Amino acid sequence: MLRATELAHLLLRQTLKPGDWAIDATVGNGHDTLFLAGEVGASGRVFGFDVQEQALASAEKRLDGLTQITLHHAGHERMSDLLPDDAKGRIAAVMFNLGYLPGEDHGVTTRSETTIAALDQALGFLAVKGIVTLVLYTGHPGGAEEAADVLAYARKLPVQFAASHFQRLNAASPAPELLAIERLR
Ligand code: SAH
Repeated sequence: MLRATELAHLLLRQTLKPGDWAIDATVGNGHDTLFLAGEVGASGRVFGFDVQEQALASAEKRLDGLTQITLHHAGHERMSDLLPDDAKGRIAAVMFNLGYLPGEDHGVTTRSETTIAALDQALGFLAVKGIVTLVLYTGHPGGAEEAADVLAYARKLPVQFAASHFQRLNAASPAPELLAIERLR
């Protein structure tokens, strides 16, 4: 099915190779972290960020024993402070899955200001041909504004980056959307 989350995996599966470095900007339950770790393998590295203790605890169970993963209990907007210096220009993929963690505190959602700050930093870490994917949700309070703000930011990016947006046109209720940004040169 052409779901935004699955499309993100499809895009990154053809980009990532063993030994690559990647970032999961919203670890949540760790599904994307696990996916990234599988694609980059034991010789790669995956850095994860989440602000919720419960999210990281649940992710850690899923990711147990995978030594290529480093999880940070910190907001993704602190990425520049927390990633090693040699990550600059070396990151092949960054995944954002915005909104709130299903089943957990719906009050803890990603927010425009910090999401855009993190996206801006993420683009600075990308390797040439690297891709940032963002799954955007418009159905929860604040979600439509956040999605609109992120899309507005992406529209203004210099042509060194290619930003593309996938959105279902005939959904009965708001469907997740995908924004993908590739560093061309
Ligand atoms: N809505 C998605 C799941 C999103 S999970 C779905 O349905 O699958 C979003 C995650 O982002 C949550 O675990 C939340 O704790 C986390 N988060 C919120 N603000 C953050 C921030 N500033 N930095 C990193 N993670 C953040």
